[in-house]
Amino acid sequence: MSKPNLTEILTHLGEDHEKYFNAVAPPIIQSSNFVFHSVEEMRNAISDELNHHIYTRGNNPTVNILRKKIAALESAEDALVTSSGAAAIAASVMSQVKAGDHVICVNKPYSWTYKLLSNLLTRFGVEVTYVDATSIDEMKSAIKSNTTVLYLESPNSLTFEISDLRACAKLAKEHGLVSMIDNSHCSPIFQRPIEMGIDIVIHSATKYLNGHSDVVVGVIASSKNIIRQIFNSEYMTLGLNISPHDANLVIRGLRTLELRIKRSDETAHKIVSFLKAHEKIEKVIFPLDPDYPQYELAQSQMTGCGGLVTIVLKANDKASVMRFVESINSFLMAVSWGGYESLMIPSITFHDMPGQEDSPIPWTYVRLYIGLEDADYLIEDLNKALSKI
Ligand SMILES: *Cc1c(COP(=O)(O)O)cnc(C)c1O
Repeated sequence: MSKPNLTEILTHLGEDHEKYFNAVAPPIIQSSNFVFHSVEEMRNAISDELNHHIYTRGNNPTVNILRKKIAALESAEDALVTSSGAAAIAASVMSQVKAGDHVICVNKPYSWTYKLLSNLLTRFGVEVTYVDATSIDEMKSAIKSNTTVLYLESPNSLTFEISDLRACAKLAKEHGLVSMIDNSHCSPIFQRPIEMGIDIVIHSATKYLNGHSDVVVGVIASSKNIIRQIFNSEYMTLGLNISPHDANLVIRGLRTLELRIKRSDETAHKIVSFLKAHEKIEKVIFPLDPDYPQYELAQSQMTGCGGLVTIVLKANDKASVMRFVESINSFLMAVSWGGYESLMIPSITFHDMPGQEDSPIPWTYVRLYIGLEDADYLIEDLNKALSKI
């Protein structure tokens, strides 16, 4: 498939001004249901609910504009928009397993993906094996006669391991597995897994796709057959739709997706250079940094990285880590990422929590998300905070 024209997708695709009084911006069709004028017309719609407007749990004109844009962005035949990224992940995995089946997933995926596979699906007799995301051999050895899914996240959460997507797609095809990837990190601007042979692409659209920290939303992009299968089972029965109002906010967010993620990526590179040279920094983890161990692989499948950067502080005690994170003003301490604002999650939060095991990620790690602010403003603040260590 030829590379989609980004400008056209983000600005025009799926929009039909004549259908709504020639308005430039699409309206929010805030209606739960839609009228038919004959039994024939109603029958026709009900026999193909995915492509008709009957009821907003299934399809809605505002949500449908978003579906078309997402599919085109990921070079997919079709797409669904869900109430969260977690819903998109659960629906995609559940659509490909039944009791007795086996899933292979990369080590330490996004926390709720882990809970889906290790807690929820095990109740229904689905097994999971976690493998090193960087090792095709390990993935291959984990395949059993009942394996149906290969689940990837590349770059992986927090420490950003990269999986060779072309090799993973090939392995999955050879063994009849459905390959799927959480592509939230790079967004379709910087990585298009379907073009490399992956079957299903999932996003937490809460992150870059919406980009304004005001909606929780997920998307699934895949072939017509797989999308129809998910729609007719998980999507409709579990009620995974988003509201037309939220869909409209994401359409608005997409207008600037390319500008936002490129700005975030460019600033991240500047901040990585600053941090690598700083005496209080042990290590900077950023897949498109030439010192990153999988730099060449990252370059071969990603055209950019975005704003996630993990740093390891040269700190001898927890108190100095606390002083560092609590003296930063420009990075808000908050979960999530992909919005206009810079954020950070210190790993130390997940240490010494009453009644809980410590996180396997050491307490010297801090994940930064670089938003849209000026690089110098962020660097000055980081510099000041690092002096507190
Ligand atoms: C946030 C996130 C999710 C979950 O998405 P929600 O929209 O919060 O449900 C999944 N994967 C990754 C990599 C995330 O960062």
